[in-house]
Amino acid sequence: MSRQRHAVVTGSSSGIGAAVAARLAGAGWAVTGWDRRPGDGTGLADWRRVDVSDAESVQAAAREVTETDLLVNSAGVGAIAPSAELKPRTWERVVGVNLSGTFYCAQALFPALSARRGLVVNLASVMAHRAVPGRAAYCASKAGVVMLTETLGVEWAEHGVRVVAVSPGYVRTPLVAEGFANGNLDEAAIAARTPLGRLAEPEEIADLVLTLTGAPFAYLTATTLRFDGGWTADGVFPR
Ligand code: NAD
Repeated sequence: MSRQRHAVVTGSSSGIGAAVAARLAGAGWAVTGWDRRPGDGTGLADWRRVDVSDAESVQAAAREVTETDLLVNSAGVGAIAPSAELKPRTWERVVGVNLSGTFYCAQALFPALSARRGLVVNLASVMAHRAVPGRAAYCASKAGVVMLTETLGVEWAEHGVRVVAVSPGYVRTPLVAEGFANGNLDEAAIAARTPLGRLAEPEEIADLVLTLTGAPFAYLTATTLRFDGGWTADGVFPR
């Protein structure tokens, strides 16, 4: 019988992270969730309260993981503000969670990942590749995740650890639902802006993550998949 595979999923209490945890569990994986707040725990074999922007909090949780096949960095936060008014504290929070947190988790789990020649999947965003006014911290943090992915992928290849980023377009999660509710986002406008004409569902990202763990992707590392319904390729010329 083959050994049960193990994953650590950050941001496991909501949205994409929760969907990834549930999908992996459904496929027979043992999933450890890391989040700063508890979720409903669906699909989790284990859960730890972790603030990914705090290196010590991450290291303490990582000490309990001796071997793992997969790390999914899905913990993330956004902020919308004109750059001229963006508070340093807000900048530091967004970069601290999205970029530093991704690094701290990958670094702390490197021994456990190399023990199983594992995979790291980092959630970037279309905003890593396209500038959006009012999102300087978010765009910069996600662009940082793209280059961090390439650097770690190149550096850790000799240890058999692969590192891949996924840049989704808009995904129907609580983060986005909040934007619909407070008027910062308009679902019809997002659908119209997306060549495939709709948002993605969290389960589609979860299916992609599970697929990336499969043998056909063993040669994939140090790169970013734009999983965005054509969003970044579209020059939005009037039509
Ligand atoms: P979400 O808000 O639904 O879930 C994010 C989770 O991260 C939450 O459970 C939250 O508690 C956790 N988290 C936040 N800060 C944390 C911290 N410091 N330590 C530990 N956990 C923390 O968001 P989502 O929509 O599922 O997004 C998941 C990831 O995908 C994020 O990195 C986001 O930037 C990225 N992304 C989302 C979309 C989208 O449209 N939803 C698009 C592109 C990229």
